Amino acid sequence: MRVLLTGGAGYIGSHTALCLLQAGHDVIVLDNLDNSSPESLRRVQELTGKQAPLIVGDCTDEKTVTRVFEQYPIDAVIHFAGLKAVGESVAKPLKYYQNNLDATMVLCKVMPKYNCNVLVFSSSATVYGTNQEMPLREDFPTGCTNPYGWTKWISERILTDVAAADPTRSFILLRYFNPIGAHESGRIGEDPAGIPNNLMPFICQVASGKLDHLRVFGDDYPTRDGTGERDYIHVMDLAEGHLAALEYAIKRSGVEIFNLGTGTPYSVLDIVHTFEQANDLKIPYEITPRRPGDIAVCYADATRAKELLHWEAKRDLNAMCRDAWNWQKQNPRGYNG
Ligand code: NAD
Ligand code: UDP
Repeated sequence: MRVLLTGGAGYIGSHTALCLLQAGHDVIVLDNLDNSSPESLRRVQELTGKQAPLIVGDCTDEKTVTRVFEQYPIDAVIHFAGLKAVGESVAKPLKYYQNNLDATMVLCKVMPKYNCNVLVFSSSATVYGTNQEMPLREDFPTGCTNPYGWTKWISERILTDVAAADPTRSFILLRYFNPIGAHESGRIGEDPAGIPNNLMPFICQVASGKLDHLRVFGDDYPTRDGTGERDYIHVMDLAEGHLAALEYAIKRSGVEIFNLGTGTPYSVLDIVHTFEQANDLKIPYEITPRRPGDIAVCYADATRAKELLHWEAKRDLNAMCRDAWNWQKQNPRGYNG
């Protein structure tokens, strides 16, 4: 298959590009490099011995997307392109709605002109909102608490309506839980700009001495140790989930939703202690008040993906912590080092 990865130079996209190339597929990347570097794809080529051509361009621009489809016959699209910083989305909602929704709509518009019907979409567990029973199942009610989340929710809605109107379309909505870690080579990984917001990149920068300590946001949640619990998933497991989703989608039509998580929640302190043990390091931390907007617990019911996609996460928390640090250690300044 020839697969177009929008946003394929980013964190999850580059790991998925590697998986697809290794599975024998052809990969084309369309990315505006707003939050990524072409170096990620150069390294994917180094690891696989295969090239994924990069078109630097904006997925919200219909002419650009049309040009890509004119240039390459494309069988399926994995749509990673999107802005993803929750805090920024609250400050700049229009930027988020415009980028994330236009990108989805432009793809929906251009794809059928080239008989391309299969699309796998990067959604998020954030669409489940708050106050839910755990574990989260795909048929639970949805609703969001910030503009970023709503862009995922509305994109899901758009894709569902477009597929309902055209029975030839096959769309898969993947709700990711908390992707962490890196390819085991340490050559590709997560390269956040500035001070990281997310837990694992923050811990990695504390471990490297770039930041002096971790702030643990709250120890008074109703959890085992009082700190927030999440469903962390190794980015390579997540990448493999996309391969399984593609294989499923090409044989069907309609819309399907799958959680991609492990089904096991770990607390912030579980992550700190596993990271310390896996890498023989100390992570200094202090307990601070809760971060506004955070929920106590969030984890997936991962059975649907297991039953229908024949996919489940294989890598444990130890591997996630080891691989995250291996990447950070080798690339203290990310791709620009
Ligand atoms: P990332 O920022 O590393 O990758 C996104 C890529 O999209 C970047 O390379 C960026 O330059 C590109 N991009 C953004 N807008 C674009 C546009 N208009 N045209 C072309 N390229 C554009 O993020 P990631 O962590 O790899 O996430 C990939 C997708 O998964 C995103 O849609 C994100 O919202 C979603 N997601 C991520 C997480 C997570 O924790 N990382 C969780 C749930 C969902
Ligand atoms: N967290 C923390 N300190 C940090 C970053 C995150 O204690 O510097 C906690 C956060 O409160 C949550 C968990 O780590 O319980 C995961 O947060 P992250 O931002 O990585 O992902 P989220 O689930 O919020 O999208």
